[in-house]
Amino acid sequence: MQTTQSKPPIRWLNLAVLGIPVLVSATVVPWYGFTYGYDAYEWVWFLVLLAFCELSITAGYHRMWSHSAYKAHPVLRFIFALGGACALQNNCITWASDHRRHHLHVDDNEKDPYSANRGFWYSHFEWMIRDYPATREDLSNVKDLLKDPILIWQRDHYLALLLLMNVGVPVLLGWLHGDIWGSFLLAGFLRLTLSQHFTYLINSAAHLWGKQTYDPNQTARDNWFIALFTFGEGYHNYHHTFAWDYRNGVRWYHYDPTKWLIKVCSWLGLARDLRSCSTYRIEMTRIAVQYKQALQHCEKLADEASTWKERLESEYAKLVATLNEWSDARHAWLEAKSAALSNELQHDLDLLKGRYKQLKQQVQRHREDWQLLLANLTGPRPAQA
Ligand SMILES: [Zn+2]
Ligand SMILES: [Zn+2]
Repeated sequence: MQTTQSKPPIRWLNLAVLGIPVLVSATVVPWYGFTYGYDAYEWVWFLVLLAFCELSITAGYHRMWSHSAYKAHPVLRFIFALGGACALQNNCITWASDHRRHHLHVDDNEKDPYSANRGFWYSHFEWMIRDYPATREDLSNVKDLLKDPILIWQRDHYLALLLLMNVGVPVLLGWLHGDIWGSFLLAGFLRLTLSQHFTYLINSAAHLWGKQTYDPNQTARDNWFIALFTFGEGYHNYHHTFAWDYRNGVRWYHYDPTKWLIKVCSWLGLARDLRSCSTYRIEMTRIAVQYKQALQHCEKLADEASTWKERLESEYAKLVATLNEWSDARHAWLEAKSAALSNELQHDLDLLKGRYKQLKQQVQRHREDWQLLLANLTGPRPAQA
């Protein structure tokens, strides 16, 4: 275990950038609130700028620039570059370079810049405030981003942009409203502190607590509660498994405002080429993990193990076969639909659609049987007579 003495030297500038907002938010912000009060105008701008910072990081820095999950119009890229400077999480080129290494070497303490295996506080912020070798800049993995003129402009003018967004904008808002300090503290300091630490929760908490639904071999977790603070990034096990998907919460009911924003932008012509993983591949990945874990559970059952293994194998094979048939039927229907349509073909199209719908119901039934079997396998067992 690493001792305090053997830890790398502190990066004082980073410590100040991270520490001062926290100190001001914990002392001056509440003092000013109790003494002079904040009004609705200041709270609204606090929320607007918080959402602007968070979404610029999640939709811009993360899903677009780090993972190429979609392409965006220069106007949107420019807005995200400003929001990224407002969030004060370094320029996008460096941020994306760190993040790509995080994905490539996840949990490797020597290569993952914010390896969760080094503990909560390390992955939350310590990696930024000490000169760890894994966190030193190496831009060899972001050659594509070095060709983006907006990102080069952001990097070259980063200091001016961060001052404009973190001092200029809150002070201007306060001046227009007649209370510079109120806006500067709320829309400046408190907004900055929360937006920074909400993002850092993805590297710390979302690698510690939650379900490993798609890949149990690395620390990233799916956690809907963390998604509430991180504009949808809490579904982190899914994200580490299918990082190029523009969504993190794949179900329609998953709270993922970032995916909704990207979708809306695509309707407005501001985003295109959205990449997403097929439902078939997602389901196959999920049930393969469940099957493997169920077989491991069987090993603990002694004399019952072989019976359970047989039941699992048979149910799993049934579910996989139905999923394959359902996927084929879906492709056949969609292909026929996109082919030149004439009235004579309408009958065939209806048949293909009917077959697809029927198989969809069959998949649902087999999935329920499968879940019931897993619940029986891992649930409480009746005492042996
Ligand atoms: Zn991660
Ligand atoms: Zn990522």
